Parts: sequence; structure tokens; C-alpha cells
Amino acid sequence: MRAIVKSKAEPGLWMEEVAMPSVGLHDVLIRVRKTSICGTDLHIRAWDPWAASTIPVPMVVGHEFMGEIVELGGDVEGLSVGMRAAGEGHITCGHCRNCRAGRRNFCHNHTGVGVTRPGAFADYLVLPAANVFPVPDHISDDVAAVLDPLGNATHTALAFDVVGEDVLVTGAGPIGAMAVAISRHIGARFVVVTDVNPYRLQLAAAMGADRVVDVSTTDLASVMSDLGMTEGFDIGMEMSGSENAFNQLLDAMNHAGRVAVLGIPPGPVRLDVNDVIFKGLTLKGIYGRQIFETWYKMAAMLQSGLDVSSLVTHRFDAADFEQAFAVVSSGLCGKVLLEW
Ligand code: NAD
Ligand code: ZN
Repeated sequence: MRAIVKSKAEPGLWMEEVAMPSVGLHDVLIRVRKTSICGTDLHIRAWDPWAASTIPVPMVVGHEFMGEIVELGGDVEGLSVGMRAAGEGHITCGHCRNCRAGRRNFCHNHTGVGVTRPGAFADYLVLPAANVFPVPDHISDDVAAVLDPLGNATHTALAFDVVGEDVLVTGAGPIGAMAVAISRHIGARFVVVTDVNPYRLQLAAAMGADRVVDVSTTDLASVMSDLGMTEGFDIGMEMSGSENAFNQLLDAMNHAGRVAVLGIPPGPVRLDVNDVIFKGLTLKGIYGRQIFETWYKMAAMLQSGLDVSSLVTHRFDAADFEQAFAVVSSGLCGKVLLEW
């Protein structure tokens, strides 16, 4: 089968013919139809220090996917051949304390599809049945291919009660823009989003932000006063990975504000902890998705009017993956799909 492979410990990705993965008793075989490119894939392609210390080569990459189940392992129950499937890319161990307590997303020993086990940028993917999310009929193939990052946005946006609250999202990348849409959908008062990329801010505006703020040209405080906000944001969602954005967010928070932190900085950051202490802020790190509560919540919101379909801005044939990666690198895009 075809697969996009990190086959050498150097920058680059290569489309290669690789052996079909074998299907274990508890696994399913998925014929991959659509995949989506994540920032993580860019790091793996660039072979930065994180990738070099994390990815065993050779490795089939990619973890945002949807497809169709074509084979079931002998012990699999509750799934069937022909089902449309997406899936949770964090494969958890099942025997650490958190797994045994039903908190799979805090597993100590998880492996990652397309990171530390064979990935989804391929004609076929083997996934444990316990990680499959059957795609409900109301979700299109395109949106099914981005359920993984939509899950990150959902996990972050639902970390705290946003109903009737003023929300600041720093970073209008695809995940930030989806968090804007979710915050709007579930009843925030004002949703303000910052970025330094006008294209990204337009995407977030289309997702229902009350104000989009290019912080390279506009003062966030002036936007808050324009909205009649006098005390600061109740809920913060850090979705940029930028130290400047994180500090700006802490500075703009109301006393007793709650902050969910998803953005991954390239290295250690300096934060003004005085803001955290004297304002009594709550900070919560967000990793991945709650398995599977986040998946059910997002599927339900997509059924009740949440619409993120316009965030899929580009589609490429898998053979043209180099072009697709160039578009993602440019930042002039929402989610970029590869079709298999
Ligand atoms: P992305 O890189 O496409 O988006 C980040 C955005 O932040 C970009 O649009 C960028 O222009 C913007 N930005 C840069 N500097 C800024 C500043 N000073 N103020 C405001 N915005 C600024 O990433 P994405 O795919 O949308 O993901 C968002 C973040 O979440 C990334 O850092 C990613 O690595 C991280 N992530 C975390 C998890 C997790 O499980 N915690 C999962 C997926 C992604
Ligand atoms: Zn575990």
C-alpha cells in the first residue's frame, strides 16, 4: 500500500510502498479516505529537536483521518465492515492507574498514531477497536477527517463553564477558530480572538467571533473597552503556543478567571505568575481529548447546529502531499485535507 513515511532521520517525508499492517484480534482495518495535516506533521517533516527525540524511523505519519472499516479482528464486537470510522489517535495502555480509573486521556504509557506507531497517511490503517469512533450520518467525510483537532478545541472550550461569560481565545489557527465556534454555540457572551495573521483572523470571524484582533496592529484593551468590558475576560483559551500571547491573555483575565492551555510552545516560556496569584486564576493544561466523552459532545454539537465545515479550506490528492504541506506551512489556510 502507499504511505507517507518518515523513512530517514533527516528533514523530509516520502511517499513509499509499504507492507499492509496486520490486523490483531482486537483491531480493525480501516481503508483510509481522507486525512488532515496537523502542525505535529510539520514538526515531523522538518525533523526539529522534538521530532528527532520522539519519532522512531521509519514511521508512517499522520493521525487525523476518516475512512471505512474493511476488516475486523476476531474478538471485535460492536463494529461492522462498511462503517465509516474516525478514531482516537492516543492508544492507551489499559493498566496504569488512570486507565483503570476510566481516565484514559491521562494514561502514562500511551502511544500515538503517526507519532510512535504506524499512522494514517496511508491507504490502510490498523487501529484497536477500542479507539474507533463510528462516524454518525450527520457528519460529512470532510468534517469527520478533522474530528481529532475539533476534539482538541472541544476539550478546551468545555474545560470551564463559558455560558454567559466573556471568552478570550489567543491564536486563530484551525483549533482556535473551532474553539470560537464552540464557545459561540454553547452560549458565551463575547468571544474575542487574537492572532497576528489576518487570514486566520478572517476564518475566526466566520466562526462567529465578536471581535478579531490583530495584536500586531491593535491594542486588545481598546477592543475590550469598545465592548463595554471593564473587568477582564472570565475564560481564556491559549491556542497559539506563543509566549507573548500567553502573557497577554493572563494580563487580560478578570479576577478568578479560568484559563485552559492547549497551545504548545517551542520551548520553556516566561510567564508573569503575579497575574496568576493576585488574580486567583485557575490554569488547566489540555492534552488531546477526553476519551470518549469529548467525541460524543462534539458529535452532538455538530448535530445541534455547530458548523465548522468552512474551516476545511484546501483538498489535495495524497500524491500531491508536498503541495499540501507547503500550504499548511504558509499559514494561509484552515484545515488542509489529503484524499486517499
Ligand atoms: P496553528 O499553529 O495553526 O495556530 C496557531 C496560531 O497562533 C497561528 O495562527 C499563529 O499565527 C497564532 N499566533 C502566533 N503568535 C501569536 C500571538 N502573539 N498572539 C496571537 N496569536 C498568535 O495551530 P493549531 O493547529 O490551530 O493548534 C493550536 C495550538 O495547539 C498549537 O500550538 C498546537 O501545537 C497545539 N496543539 C495542542 C494539542 C494538545 O493536545 N495540547 C493538540 C493539537 C495542537
Ligand atoms: Zn494507561
